[in-house]
Amino acid sequence: MSKVNSFVKALGREITDLVFPVYCLNCGKDGQSYLCRDCLSKIPKLNEQLCINCQKPAPFGKTHPRCVSRNTLDGIISALPYSDQKIREIIAAFKYSFAETLAERLSALLIQEMKNLGLSGYFAEFKIIPVPLHSRRLNWRGFNQSLLLSKPLSRMLNVEIQTELVKRDRFTKPQIELKKEQRRQNIQGAFSITNPSQISGRYLLVDDVVTTGSTLNEIAKLLKQSGASEVWAMTLAHG
Ligand SMILES: [Zn+2]
Ligand SMILES: [Zn+2]
Repeated sequence: MSKVNSFVKALGREITDLVFPVYCLNCGKDGQSYLCRDCLSKIPKLNEQLCINCQKPAPFGKTHPRCVSRNTLDGIISALPYSDQKIREIIAAFKYSFAETLAERLSALLIQEMKNLGLSGYFAEFKIIPVPLHSRRLNWRGFNQSLLLSKPLSRMLNVEIQTELVKRDRFTKPQIELKKEQRRQNIQGAFSITNPSQISGRYLLVDDVVTTGSTLNEIAKLLKQSGASEVWAMTLAHG
């Protein structure tokens, strides 16, 4: 899989569609999707939701009363454990090679988790903000994977996606390469709110992976400073 993946990256998408028939990235079975129904139901799921601040179990993903502040998310829901090697491979494939084809299936996992928690109704008044990429990274990658994940969610919840409110001003090192304290420094001042007067009500940030939460908490802080009353996040995986 990782061998195929680097090969795929080198070739580019157009050609890979011709060279590689559609097959499941997890089990290798030929079929209709890059993640077959069997594998989708079998891949490890997150057993419990975790607090964004202390990373300990938190009912419904709601940030513990002792952990929540104006500088943190109010809650976060994730579907998959990022510690699992298979999950890491699937997410790498999603980010670098098969984004459009995998987005719908992966987003479905998030929607399922939200339903399992009984929270679909809770987000009816939220507006979705996909975590933005810096323009340089967006140009290089050609798409924002967080926006692709947001679309099925917005259709299901019948809420709007706002892509212009939060901007990534500074090009930062990938958080994944950094330790917790470095991550906080790396991300500080990386984002800004384009139009603070437009901020009101409740927001749902969407991203592919969360680890220490530095990025999501930074955006939550900015939104709350501008008047947001509540900020939650959904990520495919929690590491
Ligand atoms: Zn499969
Ligand atoms: Zn906590």
